[in-house]
Amino acid sequence: MPKTAPGGDVRLTGISKTYGSFTAVHPLDLDIPAGSFFALLGASGCGKTTTLRMIAGLEDPTAGTVHLGDQDVTALPPYKRPVNTVFQSYALFPHLDIYENVAFGLRRRGVKSVKKQVAEMLELVQLGDFARRRPAQLSGGQQQRVAVARALINHPKVLLLDEPLGALDLKLRRQMQLELKRIQTEVGITFVHVTHDQEEAMTMADTVAVMNGGRVEQSGAPAELYENPCTTFVANFLGTSNLIEARVTDKSGGNLVVTAADRTLALPLERCAPTTRTGEKVLVGVRPEKITLSHADDAGAIPDGRNRITGRIADSSFIGVSTQYVVDTPCCPGFAVYEQNIERDARLVPGAEVVLHWNPAHTFGLDAAQDID
Ligand code: ATP
Repeated sequence: MPKTAPGGDVRLTGISKTYGSFTAVHPLDLDIPAGSFFALLGASGCGKTTTLRMIAGLEDPTAGTVHLGDQDVTALPPYKRPVNTVFQSYALFPHLDIYENVAFGLRRRGVKSVKKQVAEMLELVQLGDFARRRPAQLSGGQQQRVAVARALINHPKVLLLDEPLGALDLKLRRQMQLELKRIQTEVGITFVHVTHDQEEAMTMADTVAVMNGGRVEQSGAPAELYENPCTTFVANFLGTSNLIEARVTDKSGGNLVVTAADRTLALPLERCAPTTRTGEKVLVGVRPEKITLSHADDAGAIPDGRNRITGRIADSSFIGVSTQYVVDTPCCPGFAVYEQNIERDARLVPGAEVVLHWNPAHTFGLDAAQDID
């Protein structure tokens, strides 16, 4: 396909949507770079579909503007925007075969010779052998690929995907995530993908915007959001976090030093530390897989300079690749620790006294005024 098709950048400026007295999307600014795979991620009702529909022109914004490239498209109807949308429902024509479904957009525009383009598009989505089947004779994943081919044949600058994998079972979803990523890389146009599945967003997207209550809480590269969440919502939405209530005591060597239930912990000053003032409260977070669990008898072997907390294992679950422990500590009951099952320590069983320790660089700070849950 059309590797030449240039992706367009999408710029939302102060865009908002209210329905009567209800605000579905609060004024938000987003810059989606041309050619990127961008995910809008959030729980049901947070405003992601409404945001997508405002980009498509299917919903009029209450305020703000939508730019595609240099063009202000806010007042343009959907069909005049260089975008196409793929919906969860596929919306294929059941009475047409796959070839005609994909050719549909070209034929409607009066394009006479569609053969080469349709063949290229079917090749792109790896359905070259299925051209003469009807949608009902394809699996869900194959139908979804037809929907993508049908949208891409119009050479949009931006492809909008609204929960396109929502109807698929887990295994197929995972396959299609990689497939869509491959297609996006191949065609090079901008994809804006709406999903409530954090793993899906992180697998596919270059940039993820996490939405909550009609607002973007944080956006960035998946690893950046995961490693350095700036709100408790983002920290908890993107996986499990251990959050510890602490108080600032000092600054030392580029680290903020805090105490939590008489333990001293350190975190890099730049890791979203909301306050650096001595005496103020902060929430300190660490991901479960960043922590090492040592039996208390081995505490002497733990290198200096690591954050460490003592505790007692309350529970453990073997899940094949890793074991998930729940550890009660003075700072936080129910600390989660994930240990890879490489060399399992048989002493690490419920009731065992342990030391949890981790590199301070893997610690992030959050505003203590937020709810932990
Ligand atoms: P989901 O994942 O369930 O689709 P979402 O994050 O995409 O959720 P939106 O569909 O954008 O959420 O809806 C955001 C909020 O706006 C919801 O509370 C929804 O009920 C409300 N809403 C959406 N469309 C309308 C409408 N036409 N009239 C009134 N409220 C609406």
